[in-house]
Amino acid sequence: MADMSLQPGAVIGILGGGQLGRMLSVAAARLGFRCHIYEPSPQAPAADTAHRVTTAPYDDALALQAFAESVDVITYEFENIPSAALDLLEQMRPIRPGRRVLEISQDRVIEKSFLNDIGLATAPWAKVTDAASLDSAVAQIGTPAILKTTRLGYDGKGQARIMSANDAAPALTAMAGAEAVLEGFVNFSAEISVIAARGADGQVACFDPGENIHENGILHTTTVPAKLSESLRTDAILIAARILNALDYVGVMGVELFVTPDGLLVNEIAPRVHNSGHWTQAGCTVDQFEQHIRAVAGWPLGDGSRYANVEMLNLLGDDVLRVPGFAAEPKTQIHLYGKAEAKPGRKMGHINRII
Ligand code: AMP
Repeated sequence: MADMSLQPGAVIGILGGGQLGRMLSVAAARLGFRCHIYEPSPQAPAADTAHRVTTAPYDDALALQAFAESVDVITYEFENIPSAALDLLEQMRPIRPGRRVLEISQDRVIEKSFLNDIGLATAPWAKVTDAASLDSAVAQIGTPAILKTTRLGYDGKGQARIMSANDAAPALTAMAGAEAVLEGFVNFSAEISVIAARGADGQVACFDPGENIHENGILHTTTVPAKLSESLRTDAILIAARILNALDYVGVMGVELFVTPDGLLVNEIAPRVHNSGHWTQAGCTVDQFEQHIRAVAGWPLGDGSRYANVEMLNLLGDDVLRVPGFAAEPKTQIHLYGKAEAKPGRKMGHINRII
């Protein structure tokens, strides 16, 4: 083990207390670490499984300082952490993955520029700031197209379809003055993602690509193996590895790709464990959560080779009422996030089925 590695008993600070933080805490506990969660909301799924929780907003400098003092390394489970909080924290403890990837992934313009600059293909895109730039973007890219807010969009939120030039004005109104990106509509045959990991020593390991089905912009299922030719499978892994190396990345990243007749296009990157990587809990010796904790702790990456075919199904809202049925099914693993209220579209849990 490298000199920098954390020893069991060390404390890993996690920014964000959602289900990803919850599952990271479980994986960390298995390796003998303790997790301290920092989360503004009092109802944090990760609070049930972590050693310690700080409930405070991201502009509470004293709470941030006390949090940093109590941990050995800081990681995060969502990417929209205010930069002032990161400025303060990074002076006190290492943040893994580092700052640069957050600046990139928080802003679709910076993200697409970065991807294109390192030679990776994306959907055609143009920055939109007002009606005039939207008109020229529509003229350049054509329709159908999708207008997306540059920042703070997730699970299909902050997006409007533009089927013809007539849709441009209402789509811009839907952005409510936020900066946006117009993307050409990609006629993909499939959506896949690669969950990729890079260790502090530069070692890279990718999980087998999974095939994703979205419903209403939210991930519905991920199935492995994805139906891909061997050469596309290799391309997907090489793309993910190129992104990780370009960023000198430490940790797990989700890379979402569109499969098209002309090859793979990068849709977006998420600098964290990812919903489309939950299948690894049932399909691999070391899952994405343990892999992330290993990387952040400076441990060698684990064996993430896939030994089963798996379908991951998200349980949204009232889907959670189906759990008694799933509990009676063979070869089915249930993961619930401990959320009290099953609002429509809310991620309440998931199941992994060996198929
Ligand atoms: P995003 O939030 O950008 O990941 O978009 C959510 C989902 O919308 C994606 O997983 C796709 O199913 C769909 N989508 C996003 N961008 C495009 C595009 N340029 N062309 C076609 N479908 C898209």
